[in-house]
Amino acid sequence: MKTIHLIAAARPNFMKIAPLYHALKQTDWADPVIVHTGQHYDINMSDAFFTDFQLPDPHIHLGVGSGTHAQQTGRVMIAYEEILMNTPPDMVVVVGDVNSTAAATMAAVKLGIPTAHLEAGLRSFDRTMPEEINRLVTDALADLLWTPSPDGDENLLREGVAPEKVERVGNIMIDSLEMLRSRIEAEQLFMTLGLTAGEYGLITLHRPSNVDDRETLEKICGIIGNITERLPCVFPIHPRTRKNMETFGFMTRLEALPGLKILEPLSYIPFMSLVFHSRMLITDSGGVQEESTYLGIPCLTLRPNTERPVTVTEGTNQLCTPADLEANVNSILNGGRKTGQKPAMWDGKTAERVVASIRRYLS
Ligand code: UDP
Repeated sequence: MKTIHLIAAARPNFMKIAPLYHALKQTDWADPVIVHTGQHYDINMSDAFFTDFQLPDPHIHLGVGSGTHAQQTGRVMIAYEEILMNTPPDMVVVVGDVNSTAAATMAAVKLGIPTAHLEAGLRSFDRTMPEEINRLVTDALADLLWTPSPDGDENLLREGVAPEKVERVGNIMIDSLEMLRSRIEAEQLFMTLGLTAGEYGLITLHRPSNVDDRETLEKICGIIGNITERLPCVFPIHPRTRKNMETFGFMTRLEALPGLKILEPLSYIPFMSLVFHSRMLITDSGGVQEESTYLGIPCLTLRPNTERPVTVTEGTNQLCTPADLEANVNSILNGGRKTGQKPAMWDGKTAERVVASIRRYLS
């Protein structure tokens, strides 16, 4: 049996390891081991995803908790190196672009353990984003780079990565969605919230560039107020965003908006059930840009750039600034809806392709 470590740290990671865990588990040659670094550790941001995706409790828990970027990166490297030295796996798989992705890669590669990155090659070309630094470090070091779209391959080759390391496998987030589609469709959270299908917006915001600066966040709150006068919205609020809203004193004003429902962060199935029936998404999330493109739902991304350009060139995603967000919402409400198509290999078969790639590599 080949032992494969799947590294998961934070909300966007759990849904990426789930399809791969289940696909590896079905083989007769691989033993997938879930390593939770503990970057996100509360129920809403972590445990609920293990339940939704029917994952076992993590086999290994590093318990690093929160901290500065360097503290988290350093703690993961120290704790994970010890595990790797005591019980080295045959391969380490890291996903996405969080601090633990880069930290686990550094620890494993230095010990000569084959390391693969799922969701490789994405670039926003914005080094003020901590995720961009993690992507650059991880892709420079990993032995196998699985990309979701052709731009990923192009970015890696341009950076001088050997072509034989790069393999396009498609988007694992679509596997996650398809894996739970029937349970998502069975859930009707919008009704419980008193909303009508196709007549509400769904908001998620958590990027430091939008929520850490008082003036920017105040402007965004004002715009949300204006939007909800025309379109009722639901806002499952990320802990970072809530904390800043409270610190800056904006929470009470937001809670008083009649057209806005503020919720705690949701687990995957109820969140996706809200996505399925929404009129449009307003977000700065990477994953939500992909999910909306796959489902053909208009998505307004409050960011100056995206590391997922196919969602704009092929999908329903549109980049916005605080200055033009409201006009773009109105344009969608007036019928100016961007149509799109599903990018190639976003087909729910990515985990299968990754399993085949691991098998080839290890034999
Ligand atoms: N998500 C969720 N509940 C929420 C908000 C998001 O389940 O309340 C899911 C959604 O599927 C999204 C994924 O979490 O694609 C990752 O989102 P997040 O915005 O945390 O991370 P990013 O993709 O920006 O790294």
